[in-house]
Amino acid sequence: MSKKLLLKNAHIEGIRYFETYRKNGGYEAAEKALKMTPDEILEEVKASGLRGRGGAGFPTGMKWSFLAKPEGVPRHLVVNADESEPGTFKDRYLMEFLPHLLIEGMLISSYCLGSNVSYIYIRGEYSWIPDILEEAIEEAKAAGFLGKNILGTGFDCEIYVQRGGGAYICGEETALLESLEGKRGNPRLKPPFPAVKGLWERPTVVNNVESIAAVVPIIDITGAEYAKIGVGRSTGTKLISACGNINKPGVYEIDMTITVEEFIYSEEYCGGIKDGKRLKACIPGGSSVPIVPANLLLKTVNGEPRYMNYESLADGGFATGTMMGSGGFIVLDEDQCIVEHTMTLARFYNHESCGQCTPCREGTGWMYKILKKIEKGEGKMEDIDLLWDIQRKIEGNTICPLGDAAAWPVAAAIRHFRDEFEWHVKNPELSQTQNYGLAHY
Ligand code: SF4
Repeated sequence: MSKKLLLKNAHIEGIRYFETYRKNGGYEAAEKALKMTPDEILEEVKASGLRGRGGAGFPTGMKWSFLAKPEGVPRHLVVNADESEPGTFKDRYLMEFLPHLLIEGMLISSYCLGSNVSYIYIRGEYSWIPDILEEAIEEAKAAGFLGKNILGTGFDCEIYVQRGGGAYICGEETALLESLEGKRGNPRLKPPFPAVKGLWERPTVVNNVESIAAVVPIIDITGAEYAKIGVGRSTGTKLISACGNINKPGVYEIDMTITVEEFIYSEEYCGGIKDGKRLKACIPGGSSVPIVPANLLLKTVNGEPRYMNYESLADGGFATGTMMGSGGFIVLDEDQCIVEHTMTLARFYNHESCGQCTPCREGTGWMYKILKKIEKGEGKMEDIDLLWDIQRKIEGNTICPLGDAAAWPVAAAIRHFRDEFEWHVKNPELSQTQNYGLAHY
């Protein structure tokens, strides 16, 4: 059984409220942290090996150490709660059921970074959660954990919740900052990076909800102890939101030493494939990461088990592996049509493109149109190559990672499931009523 750090108290009734959270050890890590220096906290976060839980997996301590500290210029912590990646809903769970864990993590992180005004930018569709967060902020303030001169330390901190307008692109950190400033959420060209010029051109750290919540157990047990959990550079625990054709969809906390097979089939986690069907493929890190067929998902090319961690999932690069990403684990059974699935994703990215750069604006539209054609049985063999060519021209040629996120699923689908694309081209009539999965399994 995986060790629980973030969700260990999630089962306690009323844990959403300050009183219950406090009775169960809440804000003890904050009390401990506020007796430390900001540099000591930074060293603990670095020692923990925590990697950003939003998708990129960049070391959090290193990110914090890049924060510029010009004299007299305010700094900010912004929590990225714009969780819009299809298949990912673990931050929603944290905010809905354990809001004080996030607030406590923000207090410690704000103190470390020198942010007296910090923000939570939350996706518009999570319409009921800002009230939960604002209630938790008020409770923390009433108890002296936010506001002026917190616990007599002289440190002041206010937290504000900002609702997004429902645009996926605002999950990209610079688009998020633009939106937070009241402008259209267009990504900025980097450099300068937010650590130097972020919110209102001030040094800013933007971190995912889960990353900031993880700071609480890091301070609680120490960075060195946190680093002992997991394996290699995949330290600590990771929240996985599991969905698709499985028996037990939900949010699970894993310690990154378990195998993918165990995660899918054990009763503790996904409980196996629905209706006893066979596993066909999986997208292990949210819709932007490459899809992996079952044979490579359960074992590496060397026949070793594949593990639920950053290194093992990426092993072999995109040709064989994929990425841990945001931890949005989408499972597809034998009946699913890869072409239809890829088309759905292409439609999504086309819809969400902000339109600033040509390869993304035009390319995502072309990919969607071609996939739609193939899926309907109206495609030609050359269309598959054209699709491949378009995704190659998008990847690496755009302002922000949305372009790559749109290209990778198409590339991986063609690479691993080209026979399905060809089946649609060769069977135009069957394509109207069936799919490759139903026809072949
Ligand atoms: Fe906008 Fe797409 Fe360019 Fe990102 S890659 S800036 S979403 S057009």
